[in-house]
Amino acid sequence: MNKGEKIMNMKFYMPTKVIMASECIRSNGEIFRQLGHKAMLVTGKYSAKKNGAQEDVIAALSAQGISYIIYDEVMPNPTIQCAYEGAAIARENNVDMIIAIGGGSPMDAAKAMSLLAVQDIKEEDLFSGNYENKILPMVHVPTTAGTGSEVTPYAILTNDKKQTKTSISSPLLFPNVAFCDPKYMVSLNQTTTINTAVDALSHAIEGILSVKASPITDVMAGESIERIVSCYKGLLEGRLSLEERGSLLYASTLAGMVIAHTGTTAVHSMGYSLTYFKDIDHGRANGLLLGEFLRVIEGEMHERIALILKHMGLATINEVKEWFESLLGEKEKITKEEIKVYANLAIQAKNIANCPVVISRDQIEEIYNHSLL
Ligand code: NAP
Ligand code: ZN
Repeated sequence: MNKGEKIMNMKFYMPTKVIMASECIRSNGEIFRQLGHKAMLVTGKYSAKKNGAQEDVIAALSAQGISYIIYDEVMPNPTIQCAYEGAAIARENNVDMIIAIGGGSPMDAAKAMSLLAVQDIKEEDLFSGNYENKILPMVHVPTTAGTGSEVTPYAILTNDKKQTKTSISSPLLFPNVAFCDPKYMVSLNQTTTINTAVDALSHAIEGILSVKASPITDVMAGESIERIVSCYKGLLEGRLSLEERGSLLYASTLAGMVIAHTGTTAVHSMGYSLTYFKDIDHGRANGLLLGEFLRVIEGEMHERIALILKHMGLATINEVKEWFESLLGEKEKITKEEIKVYANLAIQAKNIANCPVVISRDQIEEIYNHSLL
């Protein structure tokens, strides 16, 4: 396909209103009133209370005379049970709007709750994508700069039956509004800041490599990569200015818009096992695997790899691998036997289909081996 044909064959859908500004919640309180009368705030256990985001939301709701309840039981890598529990509480309290405050975990759990609060969906049908056309309106406030969940149609839940993480995917899950203010990220520790930035970078890189990449997503992914790479020194030293925090937030939201269109690839499929079995943070898991994934597809995707290297300002895949290793530090111990199990699971994941080249189970095992042993 030549470049012109590709431009004439594009779709782009981004229904979430993104408001990215300092103090954007308090200065846009009327938006809450347009969406509902009684809200349920969905958060993790601690961070929303400490970083000022919950306080800002409550101040805006109070100024608009909107009542609210709080569900603050979302754990990292939220479970299916958590989504059903929150939805039941939303129903019992006649909530008509959901406000997610947190990293990807509360944001994803909140999406599933918004759906389950108004539809009776059995657990075995939860990941089917066949839903009625209704969901509670949602406002999302990201407090990590990583997942981009505030602009994606995905909710990723820990699926114990399948021993992995599974994604609910539906355009219904796009939040109505995303309030993005980097001041909430100042309280993030260095490790979570790095892991989440690496997740965003992984989204942008995988977006460029996806079979669903388009000229629009390429532009957004390129900008995202360059922004994240420009924060390398601050990430490494654990010292980021508010401006750099803003850059990382912009980059992660852009990368979210990218994967909303391209999906993720084998890197994410493979990372899920590292999170499920070894409790390795989501972004870190991707970062550990990315370099070797690029190496496996380099032969067939030379131009795309060259584009990624250009945006990263690096010359070779070895340099990319070193870039990630310098930020991620010492690797976890994983055995060959464990890797065989993970490869069997990863090859069954939905996002494998987005890989730009057909990737075999043996190649997946090879990526794990070279990345982790
Ligand atoms: P997270 O699991 O939401 O949060 C990680 C930790 O950071 C939690 O302990 C949290 O504390 C804390 N935290 C959050 N914001 C903080 C802040 N501002 N200051 C201090 N601590 C803070 O991490 P995440 O990486 O953002 O999200 C990962 C999840 O997102 C995974 O489940 C992943 O699969 C999913 N994901 C979704 C998408 C999508 O498109 N939907 C894309 C990629 C990843 P509290 O628990 O107290 O809040
Ligand atoms: Zn991710």
